[in-house]
Amino acid sequence: MKFNTKTIHGGQSPDPAYGAVMPPIYQTSTFAQTTPGGHKGFEYSRSGNPTRSALENAFASIENGEHGLAFGSGLAAIDAVIKLLETGDEVVSTSDIYGGTYRLFTSIFEKFGIKFHFIGMEDAENIEHYINDKTKLIWVETPTNPMMNVIDIKATAAIAKKHKVLLAVDNTFATPYLQQPLDLGADIVMHSATKYIGGHSDLIMGALVVNDKDLADRLYFIQNASGAICGPQDSFLALRGIKTLHVRMQRHCENGKAVAEYLNQHPKIENVYWPGFESHPNHEIAKAQMKDFGGMVSFTTKGNNYEEAIKIVENLKVFTLAESLGGVESLAGHPASMTHASIPKEEREKTGVVDSLIRLSVGIEDEDDLIADLKQAIG
Ligand SMILES: *Cc1c(COP(=O)(O)O)cnc(C)c1O
Repeated sequence: MKFNTKTIHGGQSPDPAYGAVMPPIYQTSTFAQTTPGGHKGFEYSRSGNPTRSALENAFASIENGEHGLAFGSGLAAIDAVIKLLETGDEVVSTSDIYGGTYRLFTSIFEKFGIKFHFIGMEDAENIEHYINDKTKLIWVETPTNPMMNVIDIKATAAIAKKHKVLLAVDNTFATPYLQQPLDLGADIVMHSATKYIGGHSDLIMGALVVNDKDLADRLYFIQNASGAICGPQDSFLALRGIKTLHVRMQRHCENGKAVAEYLNQHPKIENVYWPGFESHPNHEIAKAQMKDFGGMVSFTTKGNNYEEAIKIVENLKVFTLAESLGGVESLAGHPASMTHASIPKEEREKTGVVDSLIRLSVGIEDEDDLIADLKQAIG
């Protein structure tokens, strides 16, 4: 099956009870047994629920993987991955990762004796300098947030294989429509399904997909033992979202390109960060590993004025000023005062998060309205 068919049919068949085409919402905590242990595949909804199960199969299908697991949030999915490790183990992670991932690694897991090295990975060879006999996992996020750096998954996977460490890729920004990390050699692919996969800004959810059966069993054990699952109603919403992932992504990419190109020729704009530009430092890797360049675009204004950037995001009318990304509606954020406000100015500026940086999640509205909105807001 090709991707555009998998989003609609992957891992799903009509419900055996009445032939419902959409997997029904099995809003139940428990399942009747005829004799102790005599059940139809489900006994308690933390351990498994038919609606969640359909979603987990759909996750696996769209990521070209064997096993999918759904969690109550993206962070719960990451939490499960790190729980594969033990005290004394080390992780090499992309430095400009999602802020919540950084907080989970440093504020929760470091106190249990797991060590994290946060490094630039645009040059994959840099990773090898941080690998030793305690390293168990490489954590990659690509494209990165909000600077849109792109990391070579295949080259990173080769390093992971050579040193026998796991490679996990946070595929939230790209989605499986644009890149499928398992096919490029990753062991674990992770999603905040809250974003493009759900796609309608109406749920919080996480996903993991793996090929290896033993790894899947270990992650399932953690999912059930720690209990950070998602409910049947949200599973249904995510299944519904996945069905249009390919058409939404196609439009996100078209609109993203139009917005990036508009901003790039605007006299008041200094830099536009979007991997589709030939001048983007990782453009060749992006072209090789991604089908298209996505709907996330960041930019700075000439003079790098904090107040001017605030005024632009306040002036926007079609773009909503809000955290998050990946929904059908366009959103704008000002990292220096929002997502990255807790990071000291000198620290955030080292990674490019300067005062005038604005991040756009370009939605699927009409391109002309989005450009007109940017035009009136920037002036
Ligand atoms: C939002 C996000 C997360 C966290 O996911 P939640 O669903 O909010 O818990 C992780 N990684 C990336 C890249 C994200 O954008």
